Amino acid sequence: MQHEFTIQVSPETAANPNQLKYQVSKKNKIPLEEIKHIQILKRSIDARQRAIKINLKINVFVNEVYAEAPIQLPIYPDVSNASEIIIVGAGPAGLFAALRSIELGFKPIVLERGKDVRARRRDLKAINRDHIVNEDSNYCFGEGGAGTYSDGKLYTRSKKRGDVHRILKLLVGFGATDQILVEAHPHIGTNKLPDIIASIRKKIIECGGVIHFETRVTDFEIKNNEINGVTLQDGSKILTNKVILATGHSARDIFELLYKKKVAIEAKPFALGVRVEHSQQLIDQIQYKCEVRGPYLPPSPYSIVKQVGGRGMYSFCMCPGGVIAPCATKPGEVVTNGWSPSKRDQPTSNSGIVVELRLDDFKEYAKYGPLAAMYFQKNIEQQAWRVGGETQKVPAQRLLDMTQGKVSTHLPDTSYKPGLTSADMSTVFPEFIHKTLQYGFKAFDKSMRGYLTNEAVVHAPESRTSSPVRIPRDWKTLEHTQVKGLYPCGEGAGYAGGIISAAIDGEKCAEACVKK
Ligand code: FAD
Repeated sequence: MQHEFTIQVSPETAANPNQLKYQVSKKNKIPLEEIKHIQILKRSIDARQRAIKINLKINVFVNEVYAEAPIQLPIYPDVSNASEIIIVGAGPAGLFAALRSIELGFKPIVLERGKDVRARRRDLKAINRDHIVNEDSNYCFGEGGAGTYSDGKLYTRSKKRGDVHRILKLLVGFGATDQILVEAHPHIGTNKLPDIIASIRKKIIECGGVIHFETRVTDFEIKNNEINGVTLQDGSKILTNKVILATGHSARDIFELLYKKKVAIEAKPFALGVRVEHSQQLIDQIQYKCEVRGPYLPPSPYSIVKQVGGRGMYSFCMCPGGVIAPCATKPGEVVTNGWSPSKRDQPTSNSGIVVELRLDDFKEYAKYGPLAAMYFQKNIEQQAWRVGGETQKVPAQRLLDMTQGKVSTHLPDTSYKPGLTSADMSTVFPEFIHKTLQYGFKAFDKSMRGYLTNEAVVHAPESRTSSPVRIPRDWKTLEHTQVKGLYPCGEGAGYAGGIISAAIDGEKCAEACVKK
């Protein structure tokens, strides 16, 4: 017999199967010897009280033996000779579009400007160590897209999420830990993601799909409002009437190209700010209300939202036990984001802290039409590069100093490898963003006492939070509103935010493409 329960236990009990069994037996009056197995279905931490609790949803096997059912991947047929779908971009959207195409009997041809996960590492080293940004291979571009060298958080704020569990199960099938199916806030970690991405690639190729790395799409062949093919950087063309465009939010050349070709695109509001780094120990102390985090608790995340002068200011992509990464995609700009290893065992935590922007904030850039928000973003990244000293060093300021408008005389160590230049954030951001950040951080401290400290450092800018452009599509067919056969997909097109929602959108676009 099986019984499903929810139970609240101490972190130690949650980590110890025998203790848990005892608690379950006592609370539910089931004789201990009759409990054959406890399967954890969901786990979350309740840190609201001083005595932290773990909420568990469990399936108790009473006098019944538990037989573990390994996660099965779908049956992927051989599609070597099937009809082709061109997929531009091998981020989560592109890769999951490719897998779904195969599942539905179509042959994906994936075109990716960057390198495979392994070759990509050399270019990441070059940014970190030598300040050299390769425009095709960096933290945003390359196999697995922007998600490969990330924290690999697998949850989404979006209400229109779709089948999150299906994507999680696929990730487990390709090598992720099955704990991501259980945790309320699952994550994978930078050290594990590349192998998972590589096994997705292996499967695509094994089934007859094709992936071309170092293959940048530079033009679209469009006739009578229908896609006819794509042009690659070497001038060669691939003719096709189905293109899934999953190039991510950093592919500015694609946005420029669409605009030049008069293919409809729209400016899209996004959010922008700084990435702040604290010691993980301080965040643990604030969140867990204790001096030292116990052995059974993970490094604590945080999530915070405030309204400041009528604008939202919130934490974004928080990485406990993580590192700040240089995420520029072109020389002459600096961009920050964060990653963590699977154990989240670095001594620092970091989070984007961003201010909500609206379309009328981009008025000064109106001459760029639908690219106004993108130019606003680019301008701040270039300004930060100049203030930082025209390398990959970023402008930085101690947090309290920033709120008080003081330049920091000395900056502490940072996890951001290229290094810091002490600067006044008012020289990087327009006044309304700077002021919102100054007030907002004070408001944050009211919710998280001790957060506003000079031991924390802000790094600028955190600017690639979501796409500054939307590529409009028909809500039913998912085709571009004007160009038939073109499927704007994933985060770059404005239909996803994060790994999971991009993967879901990739699958949806493949389904729509196949239906056509
Ligand atoms: P992308 O991942 O951006 O992929 C687009 C791909 O298209 C890229 O590989 C690019 O090289 C390729 N491309 C672009 N232009 C062309 C062209 N012209 N021709 C051919 N190929 C092209 N999200 C989370 O959910 N959790 C996290 O923990 C998280 N952490 C992150 C940490 C970092 C450092 C970064 C940079 C991002 C992080 N994100 C995280 C965001 C997440 O990675 C993105 O939301 C997600 O990858 C978007 O997927 P996508 O497939 O739509 O686009």
